[in-house]
Amino acid sequence: MTKKLTRDKVFYAFSADLEPVLEIELGEKVQMETHDCFCGQMQSESDTIDDLDWERVNPATGPVYVRGVQPGNILAVEIEDVQVADQGAMVTIPGEGALGDIITEAETRIFRMEEGQAIFNDKVRLPMKPMIGVIGVAPSGEPVPNGTPDAHGGNMDCTLIGAGCTVYLPVNSEGALLGMGDMHAVMGDGEIVVCGLEIPGEVTFRTRVLTEANLPTPFLETADLVATVHSAPTIDEATDGAIHRMAQFLTEMVGMDVNEAGMIMSVAGELKFCQVVDPMKTIRFEFPKFILSAYGFDVKALR
Ligand code: CA
Ligand code: ZN
Repeated sequence: MTKKLTRDKVFYAFSADLEPVLEIELGEKVQMETHDCFCGQMQSESDTIDDLDWERVNPATGPVYVRGVQPGNILAVEIEDVQVADQGAMVTIPGEGALGDIITEAETRIFRMEEGQAIFNDKVRLPMKPMIGVIGVAPSGEPVPNGTPDAHGGNMDCTLIGAGCTVYLPVNSEGALLGMGDMHAVMGDGEIVVCGLEIPGEVTFRTRVLTEANLPTPFLETADLVATVHSAPTIDEATDGAIHRMAQFLTEMVGMDVNEAGMIMSVAGELKFCQVVDPMKTIRFEFPKFILSAYGFDVKALR
């Protein structure tokens, strides 16, 4: 049985106080529709940010209550599939993003998707690489607006979070209260004008729970790599956090000493930007799984 959740069930801040809109069992397959980050308000190029209702920006679908997960656990969200609609939008906003100092005109562009490609203009088609910008659970403290990434996940805008990725998140309240939204048909690392190719979509996922593992969350796993993800007020702090969390994982869980972890991270790891434009900046540190295998470590075996 697949459980379905439609995109009209949204919230705008991750919080322990939200009422769940769906309860699921661990292992159960779930299909969740998501709005684009504008909640569908940008349907044509004459819909500009001046007309935008900012109260309806960055909706996440949910929250979903996962039965049997408790504070202190880690929730693993296995993303099996990400499908997106055939039309998406981008905007420029003067003063916003990494080019806000030179962008003077607000503009909306609408893009069509065709045969796995996003038609950027009559010269350029980009291969689609659907990803989920916002994915998270209830935070441990005060509610966190969906536009802000932090320890609970949220607006991490990480290009790795697509089909085949497992996202490990900390459980802070009973049932975790999982939500997702802000899908992008394609986005580059950094998300420099504060948007990817924003598009509605549908995620198919299952959940697992880890009760003993002490993973530094948020933590990602794809077919080939694992990654620590850290968000902080500055790029420097986010970078430092992502690197130290990977070192912590390699020393505490994989069994390397700190010098060996540092050297192998330095030659085989990849430090990358997720986004540099949100209220908190997000950096990730990627590390290849084949090296974990060589040390006899299997992320999939974590309990
Ligand atoms: Ca985003
Ligand atoms: Zn977005």
